[in-house]
Amino acid sequence: MTVTSATPALDELRARLADINALTMARDVLSWDQSTHMPSSGARDRGRHMSVLNRLSHELFVSERTGELLAQADEETAGLPGDHIDSQLLAVVGRDYRRYTKVPPAFLERVSLHTSRTFHEWQQARPADDFARLRPLLEQTVELSREFSSYYTGIAHPADPLIDLADEGFTVATLRPLFARLRAGLVPLVEAVVDRDDSIPSPFQQFFAPDAQLEVGLELAQRFGYDLSRGRLDLAAHPFATSFGVDDVRITTRVDPHDLTQSLFSTLHETGHALYELGVDPRLSGTSLAQGASSGVHESQSRLWENLVGRSRAYWEWAGPFLAQRFPDQLGGVSVDAMYRAVNRVKRSLIRTDADELTYNLHVIVRFELALELLEGSLAVVDLPDAWRDRYQSYLGVAPTDDRDGVLQDIHWFAGMIGGSFQGYTIGNVLSVQIFEAAERALGPLDARFAAGDFGDLERWLRTELYRYGRRLEPLDLVERVTGSAMTVEPYLAYLRRKYGELHGA
Ligand code: ZN
Repeated sequence: MTVTSATPALDELRARLADINALTMARDVLSWDQSTHMPSSGARDRGRHMSVLNRLSHELFVSERTGELLAQADEETAGLPGDHIDSQLLAVVGRDYRRYTKVPPAFLERVSLHTSRTFHEWQQARPADDFARLRPLLEQTVELSREFSSYYTGIAHPADPLIDLADEGFTVATLRPLFARLRAGLVPLVEAVVDRDDSIPSPFQQFFAPDAQLEVGLELAQRFGYDLSRGRLDLAAHPFATSFGVDDVRITTRVDPHDLTQSLFSTLHETGHALYELGVDPRLSGTSLAQGASSGVHESQSRLWENLVGRSRAYWEWAGPFLAQRFPDQLGGVSVDAMYRAVNRVKRSLIRTDADELTYNLHVIVRFELALELLEGSLAVVDLPDAWRDRYQSYLGVAPTDDRDGVLQDIHWFAGMIGGSFQGYTIGNVLSVQIFEAAERALGPLDARFAAGDFGDLERWLRTELYRYGRRLEPLDLVERVTGSAMTVEPYLAYLRRKYGELHGA
């Protein structure tokens, strides 16, 4: 007897998505290897290998056949409820398909060539502090970003399609007032507590053997629920987490032999990203749904584990004695309070990736605002370095003397388009508190459990309420469902005021 499927188009579409997924995963394995183990001379060939895999998966996805299958599969599943997994898969794939087929392949080719040239130049121009060399390229990047947006109709701001790619559903119109409220709350708060503990040396700024740092970091990650049969930890210059499927999600970290906090918080941050991906429902494996909902929701989980857990007093009640036992020469005899204060120092700093919890969003808001102004045409690229300095001076009270630690510091504008790459960091910080508070409403206060080194209840709740959905729900709907409200900055500001007020009696 032959069994014929009632949904042949959906079956063929799933098989096609699985092929695309395999090509994407292969590219990501190459990319992971490039950042962790590849000898430096391998870079030229590796770039070619990855771009071939990129092109093949893109062509397969945007082909007419994908469009036909989507239309037929929609008919096949017309009777299903909207929250059925097949309906959700078709909704997400349909949105992606429309998004990616709007833009002509020849344009994407131009962007890709321009981007690799710009990235190459940036690698030399940043150490040389040579903004002038990048200026004409950056002007083209602004033009290309505007051209990208011009393929989308009915948009209110040229950044909207770029934001939507990373953080679906968000727009300049929704983000601008949120970020403005956040900035208005943060600037005076930073002013009140900045540089308070500066005279006391940090117990973490001593020599800690790199191997021991990695070993301890991995133990801490496992405490959060990171499963080494489904993951591993390697070194990378710019730490990241990457998923090769629901059962292989890897993290990387960086080590400074003279500052334990670098590896410690990079590891906790990437563990948060990894727990999210490891918690995705295995039934979504091999489809476009088997990943985080958006860049902001992803970042909410790295920041939740890094900050709401890893920089809390309750966590240090447990982690302090644990680290003192692992590093008796450096940390034996250091009080929990001293450690807690040391990991929560607020400093005026120039580098986003080294920023503390309180000033971090101001670094992001500077970039978000400048990118919008570049796209609107109210700021010219030639004036960007000065605008950067002015904005830093007024929001953070400090300004770089060179461009290396100013406008050239981040890879984002030199390795892609301008307008959609920074908002996710701040959306993530804001959401991390809303989601954490929802967890405590459901589970009760978590302090005593953290102080005992028990993070299982939190991880299970997040997995059940958030992680398992992958991309089944749109980010804004997911946030509403998990937290019971829309995204709002007030809980985040209240958390920061409470925490830093208590730390500094402000
Ligand atoms: Zn992150």
